Amino acid sequence: MTMSEGEEAIASARARQISAALARTWERIDTACQTAGRSRDAVCLLLATKAQPAGAIRAAIEAGASLIGENRVQELVAKAPALSDLSHQAHVIGPLQSNKVNATVGLASCIQTVDSVRLAERIAARAAGLPHGIDVMIQVNTSGESSKSGVRPALAAELAYHVAGLGPLRLAGFMTVGLNSDDEVAVGRSYAALREIKEAVALSGVPGTERAVELSMGMSGDLEIAIAEGATIVRLGTAIFGPRR
Ligand SMILES: *Cc1c(COP(=O)(O)O)cnc(C)c1O
Repeated sequence: MTMSEGEEAIASARARQISAALARTWERIDTACQTAGRSRDAVCLLLATKAQPAGAIRAAIEAGASLIGENRVQELVAKAPALSDLSHQAHVIGPLQSNKVNATVGLASCIQTVDSVRLAERIAARAAGLPHGIDVMIQVNTSGESSKSGVRPALAAELAYHVAGLGPLRLAGFMTVGLNSDDEVAVGRSYAALREIKEAVALSGVPGTERAVELSMGMSGDLEIAIAEGATIVRLGTAIFGPRR
């Protein structure tokens, strides 16, 4: 598909906008790490790319981003060909239906949203033939909001131990969508809850939990709170791409 001069000018203006937003966001992450007394290397930026066209994602990857997250498998599948020449990794960060597992394994290097034994076993069955298996995270509903996916906090460790025993799955850590609130203390509590689950699992000594070190938490509005509570992956959409339509 060739672009007209006008279209090219718009695309390059958009690319500059995304690159500038990315630079500002990295600064924000730097500052948050400093404030929290954490190493800058300890936190990775994941682009939340739902509803973004492949061109915008390409611009962000060319500006230095290397990790993207899609909520819907349809979008992951649809955009993958247009991004296949770019070095990057893709994670699944939205609810994964069982009938979409086959399409996902192979395209995503990590499924962050495992919240049931059933889903974990389905992924394990599909990943059995992969030479390196697949990374997964346990999604925990730390806010208690009924609109949010994720296993209940009280059941999260048990699910993690089960997943840790499923051969082709590598348990990489835990993910949550934090409380949607202006109350920073309450938001911090939901992120602290995820950190506490990770710490409890790390102390368990259960085989297969050794590599469960990631905490995927924090979005554009609250990444500072998440980094203060130990986030290792912040998932950012609006901060990079602007408001979604
Ligand atoms: C959209 C989304 C994000 C990013 O949200 P922003 O507020 O746009 O940064 C992060 N995580 C998940 C699971 C999302 O769906």
